[in-house]
Amino acid sequence: NQGNRAYNFNAGPSALPLAVLEKAQQELLDFRGTGMSVMELSHRGDVYEEVHNQAIARLKDLLSISDDYEVLFVQGGGSMQFSMVPMNFLQPGKTAAYIMTGAWSEKAFGEAKLFGEPYHAASSKDSNYRYIPKLEDIKFQESDAYVHLTSNNTIFGTQWREFPDTGSVPLIADMSSDILSKPIDVNQFAMIYAGAQKNLGPSGVTVVILRKDLLEKANTNIPTMLQYGIYAKNNSLYNTPPTFGIYLLGEVLNWVQETGGLAELTKRNEEKAKLIYDAIDASNGFYYGHAEPESRSLMNITFRVKDEALEKQFLAEAKKEGFVGLNGHRSVGGCRASAYNAVPYEACKALSQFMVQFQAKHS
Ligand code: PLP
Repeated sequence: NQGNRAYNFNAGPSALPLAVLEKAQQELLDFRGTGMSVMELSHRGDVYEEVHNQAIARLKDLLSISDDYEVLFVQGGGSMQFSMVPMNFLQPGKTAAYIMTGAWSEKAFGEAKLFGEPYHAASSKDSNYRYIPKLEDIKFQESDAYVHLTSNNTIFGTQWREFPDTGSVPLIADMSSDILSKPIDVNQFAMIYAGAQKNLGPSGVTVVILRKDLLEKANTNIPTMLQYGIYAKNNSLYNTPPTFGIYLLGEVLNWVQETGGLAELTKRNEEKAKLIYDAIDASNGFYYGHAEPESRSLMNITFRVKDEALEKQFLAEAKKEGFVGLNGHRSVGGCRASAYNAVPYEACKALSQFMVQFQAKHS
């Protein structure tokens, strides 16, 4: 029962599981008999340490992360990773391959230019980022310090199905908007990063999964708080971490485990996205998707209504009906339904029904 909860399709921060919010509410004033809230606990004490380590252990369990990797909690969001990655792993004069699939890839690329010689290994910009480049069209150089990609393009609504094999060159992925939406083989990646505020928890925590052999190559002549090695050496407790956010992240991971793990979540996410894509595909062009069908995202469903005035009306009526966050990103316009892990099936069902009814009324 979702009570009076909104149909929240926000792109981020986005819906959290109701069960997690209720548990946090119950524990808010007295966490495990301490007489304190989690946010009042010392980050050096046993009680918080257990919360912290449990969150790491749950993520390792859910993604089958081996001991070859460090799991780190960093602040500064996905955006700070755009800078930390090249600051740690790119030297002046050295190349890094960036696969350009949207605005977030562009931002990551822009930061890398400050440190070395990044280049576009492939790009779908010519189509306004409607698709993920084919693996055979991606061109790397053996000398690359790393290859960077964005696994899910939150703004354009495209998602990788299969990742490139980069051989001995480290593959680094920004998974901010689809981590834990489906099973992945972490071993394909030297590093994965994700701001928490879509599938993992509240904003303020960023998860970094980093292979130890890449970490060994990191620059150390950079500010302390920007060195991955400092986080690894100190179990992400070099300074005060965002303790309440990490606690909530741990509770979200617990919810994922209790829900049945990634296999169950994929099934649910596929069913949810299908409801909305089916409404688009059955509309005879009244609605049309932005992404090419084979690149469609399970998380961010981007679409337009056939003319601009109707689109405005669609968004206004949807808002009145209680659907939150359906406006496309301010840079591209249109409509976008973000159906992250915590968005219930019922919300997607209600949206697909609303789409069908709106079309019937205005065709
Ligand atoms: N990467 C992706 C794929 C995103 O969707 C976003 C934000 O929506 C970011 C990076 C930037 O994240 P942050 O706002 O945490 O810096």
